[in-house]
Amino acid sequence: MLLRKVSQTSAVCGSILRNPAVLSGGQRQAALVLAVPNGRLYASQAAQAVLEKPAAVGSDAAAEVEKKAVAAESKSFAVNMFKGQIATTQVFPFPKALNEEQEQFLQELVGPVSKFFEEVNDSAKNDALEKVEDQTMEGLKEMGAFGLQVPADLGGLGLSNTQYARLVEIVGSHDLGVGITLGAHQSIGFKGILLFGNKAQKEKYLPKLATGENIAAFCLTEPASGSDAASIKTTALASPCGKFYTLNGSKIWISNGGLAEIFTVFAKTPMKDPKTGEMKDKITAFIVERSFGGVTHGPPEKKMGIKASNTAEVYFEDVRVPADCVLGEVGGGFKVAMNILNNGRFGMAAALSGTMKGVMAKAIDHAANRTQFGNKIHTYGAIQEKVARMTMLQYVTESMAYMISGNMDSGATDFQIEAAISKIFASEAAWTVTDECIQVMGGMGFMKDSGVERVMRDLRIFRIFEGTNDILRLFVALNGFQNAGNQLKSLQKALKNPLGNVGLLAGEITKRAKRKAGLSTGLTLQGSIHPNLAQSGDLTVKAIEQFGAVIEELLVKHGKKIIDEQFVLKRVADCAIDLYAMVVVLSRSANVFSLSPVFGCPSCIFELPLSDSQLLLLDTETPTQPECSCFVCPALCRASRSLSQGQPSAQHEKMLCDTWCMEAHDRVMQDIKLLRSSQSKRLFNNLRSISAVVVENGGPFNN
Ligand SMILES: Cc1cc2nc3c(=O)[nH]c(=O)nc-3n(C[C@H](O)[C@H](O)[C@H](O)COP(=O)(O)OP(=O)(O)OC[C@H]3O[C@@H](n4cnc5c(N)ncnc54)[C@H](O)[C@@H]3O)c2cc1C
Repeated sequence: MLLRKVSQTSAVCGSILRNPAVLSGGQRQAALVLAVPNGRLYASQAAQAVLEKPAAVGSDAAAEVEKKAVAAESKSFAVNMFKGQIATTQVFPFPKALNEEQEQFLQELVGPVSKFFEEVNDSAKNDALEKVEDQTMEGLKEMGAFGLQVPADLGGLGLSNTQYARLVEIVGSHDLGVGITLGAHQSIGFKGILLFGNKAQKEKYLPKLATGENIAAFCLTEPASGSDAASIKTTALASPCGKFYTLNGSKIWISNGGLAEIFTVFAKTPMKDPKTGEMKDKITAFIVERSFGGVTHGPPEKKMGIKASNTAEVYFEDVRVPADCVLGEVGGGFKVAMNILNNGRFGMAAALSGTMKGVMAKAIDHAANRTQFGNKIHTYGAIQEKVARMTMLQYVTESMAYMISGNMDSGATDFQIEAAISKIFASEAAWTVTDECIQVMGGMGFMKDSGVERVMRDLRIFRIFEGTNDILRLFVALNGFQNAGNQLKSLQKALKNPLGNVGLLAGEITKRAKRKAGLSTGLTLQGSIHPNLAQSGDLTVKAIEQFGAVIEELLVKHGKKIIDEQFVLKRVADCAIDLYAMVVVLSRSANVFSLSPVFGCPSCIFELPLSDSQLLLLDTETPTQPECSCFVCPALCRASRSLSQGQPSAQHEKMLCDTWCMEAHDRVMQDIKLLRSSQSKRLFNNLRSISAVVVENGGPFNN
């Protein structure tokens, strides 16, 4: 659990931070302690995830793994930005995750899937019927849409994460109700079998799941256990012979709950701690077949949106589950649950990126054709700003989805902060974009026929399920703080042997002094991004430097109490989201420029990639002065210009990137300013008090 883990990083580096003269008096006094005496689990569903140990309770193996994990340098950009560092491995260059064969296979799928959604599936009808039409279900099964990532030898399409992202983007642009049916099945329903299943489990279950003959569901939530997933009450008691478990309990709001034959169910199993001998309840994941008996479900829930998807209560009454159906390790269920969710989050970003494209097409068409006050409405600044902002939000979301899927396809394992950020960003961006589309379309957008109101209803749940955005913000911030705390802890160790660590300590002290004086600490993105994007790169670097500094200040200021500072954590998470978005768009737009050596031409937006021989020539020849005042020969410069004309998307993407980075930088600086100011305490106290009074009164007015 994050908070318990945080508690293990106690006494983190109070001393190093008290020593350097660069720290303020108050900071020097504070011991940087992240210990959490009560280990409250409010961020549990998300936060426990990454931090559950892979081995059973208290085993030495678990301790070893943890030691290694702490020692290992994370390649995650997000982890490092909390330390005020830049790790480029996972973000530059923008991942190109598909080989030629995968690219070709994907292209073969994109056409038919798009056509199917345009010609066969009827999203409005599904919504009205409150179920996915049978012909759509059958068509999807025939296309292999129920087994996109199941290996080909087990009957699936064997798609990579990037290929999967591209297809769910198409689904998301047409019908989120269908998207949830497919997602609840494969992104969470049987993902546990793919990730944690043994050979026998995979061979037994995946073929029928891949064809859609069997539908799957993911059963975690209970009436008294939502965000706090560790508090589930469903039990699984082992039989004395050890051959089966008896499962009892009920789950609510289970997507596909009324359709599924195969359930991934999380239940508490009493286990003996090998060290203390104490009995403790640990969560275990099970594969449960409806055919085991004792599995029933309630009627489909009446919902605000994603009406076509089935949501139902599922009851387990004395279900006899064979011990062979334990998924992963006994007691390791929390890790299973969190890995499933963590692995699927990029899919939500991809789907919602498609959703945004879908609604934007309608709004843009309206803006281009609707005349008011004698002009097309797209000529008015108010509409232009909306269209531009919607475009940026979609661009960032899409970039995050493919950055993370690409990272995953390249074997990255440390991407949980990024995945959580992508879920938060995508669900909020899609909401804003759809709302603005309706605004651009005016009354037309409000009409059912436009199809946008359905999308608006469908979208609302995305900020709630698979970890509410509020809980995921805590997760992002606390994970980041924990990593920053670990780094400081190693500095504390270094301090114990200052002579042996002179270089390291001098570097750290200089870094803090420079940050305090508002100087650059030497962080740079040069060499990773194209020179055309240097300005945006500088803004990103500056924001990361200040972010790293404020994280350290907050750790010193709040110590172990940081976990209770939700007003602070929210703003820290907001900064993290903006920073990750900045680097993702920098990477993506750098991609459209050549990454091979370029010859700088300050007055051209576009630069010409030069071959080695051309570079050699330029090295030896006296540069000429062409019309555009750079020293590239005129012929090359002309060639450069004509190339730029052939690349309209390059200029467009640069503009998206620059505009996003400018505004995101300002938002981050604004948040940092607030976090550092004495005013923040007053503001947060006011908000706390207002809420307390209103809750006490049971409403906003003091009647
Ligand atoms: C349509 C639909 C489909 C679903 N599908 C599935 C499914 O297939 N499988 C499944 O297992 N579940 C499913 N769920 C459940 C979903 O995952 C939960 O609704 C979600 O986890 C949130 O839990 P909750 O609704 O109980 O909210 P709560 O946990 O009660 O939270 C209520 C509010 O309080 C906030 N909050 C809670 N704790 C804290 C805290 N410590 N600090 C600050 N804020 C806090 C939350 O962010 C939220 O805003 C589905 C739900 C819906 C509506």
